[in-house]
Amino acid sequence: MNLVIELDARGAKVIGQAPERAAPVAPKPANEGHGDVRKKIVPNVKQPTAPTSTEWEGGQYLSMQEWLDGSQEGGAILLQPADDVKKLDGRIGNAALISVDFHRIGDGRGYSHAFLLRKRLNYQGRLRAQGAVTADQVFAMARVGFDSFALRADQSADIALRSLDSFGVPYQGAVVAGTATDRADANFAARVRLLERALAQLAARHERPALASSLSAEDMVITDVIARLKLPIEIFTLETGRLNLETLALIPQVKERYGIEIDVRRPDAHAVAAYIVAHGKDGFYDSVAARKLCCNIRKVGPLNEALSGRDAWITGQRRDQAITRGALPESERDSERNMQKYNPLADWAWADVLAYAARFDIPMNALYQRGYVSIGCEPCTKAIRPGEDPRNGRWWWENQDSKECGLHTTLNAAR
Ligand code: SF4
Repeated sequence: MNLVIELDARGAKVIGQAPERAAPVAPKPANEGHGDVRKKIVPNVKQPTAPTSTEWEGGQYLSMQEWLDGSQEGGAILLQPADDVKKLDGRIGNAALISVDFHRIGDGRGYSHAFLLRKRLNYQGRLRAQGAVTADQVFAMARVGFDSFALRADQSADIALRSLDSFGVPYQGAVVAGTATDRADANFAARVRLLERALAQLAARHERPALASSLSAEDMVITDVIARLKLPIEIFTLETGRLNLETLALIPQVKERYGIEIDVRRPDAHAVAAYIVAHGKDGFYDSVAARKLCCNIRKVGPLNEALSGRDAWITGQRRDQAITRGALPESERDSERNMQKYNPLADWAWADVLAYAARFDIPMNALYQRGYVSIGCEPCTKAIRPGEDPRNGRWWWENQDSKECGLHTTLNAAR
């Protein structure tokens, strides 16, 4: 039986049991039985075509359309990713429960539904996440207003409870003065304000600052602030020639959404050709040295060119992304390039990034919905399993302590 965890004024606890459904079949690694690291472990995940559950503890769910056709006092609504939640405006006061069906882990549409229900439609009742809900997601979900979580069958309640321990009380508590949800909202708002202030200050302090964007969710957060505040900070990205199409798709999306033309920097064609002759196109699998040489040609060289003549650069790095980033400062001297380097998201958690993405509805790489967390070049990046170290998705054939591409040589330097 699946576990349901609910937040109330006393904190998080396991309640009752959700209807039974089949445990998801573990994705089959593409290289199972071969042991060849050159073949990526690509989960073969089929998206559900129907609701992941049709019942709640009070009976059958109603679809959104069924609810609109004739709402039932004390009934429950099951929202699907494609539902237009705004249609429920003024029609949800008598619902006992609204469940949001996540067909994929981290599906941004589920977060958007929660945000709309809580902030726009002022829904105060119980709000449940069900479907592809993993224990490591519940904190981020609670931050956008979920207070009930039907965990996927293979998930641990203990991990989810521990994660929620730091959250306190649920959204409903917001109607009570001084609740933790107020505090969580205030903390998030303060975090965003600090980020806005840091970027505005550095834009005023420097002549030619630039964001080195890998088009990650973190860099999209910074891009969104630059665009909203109209800050004079240029944005460039390193098009290594080995990026995923999903990553490249963000360049025109940023143009369309913000009117910002990202400066696309490419590696030296002769250096790339020489590497391929000497090591092969995928020679980076053979040794750390060959991998670092590839990164040096495709990333570090173009980065140095993009930073030439500038007096500051900005990254979206966070401390909890990797053990190599544990001491990452928010501002540091990049003595190699003789300029200041800023990491304004250094103390942000992944949950903060997701909360920002949901709140401001920023463009996001479609790969996040397929289990990718840290996204780089296509042959050197793979999806990870829930709860796995995010860095396991990068250069997985190497040791943890070698997993940097050479872009960030100032790590651990004094502020
Ligand atoms: S991440 Fe992989 S493909 Fe990309 S530059 Fe580094 S070694 Fe080359």
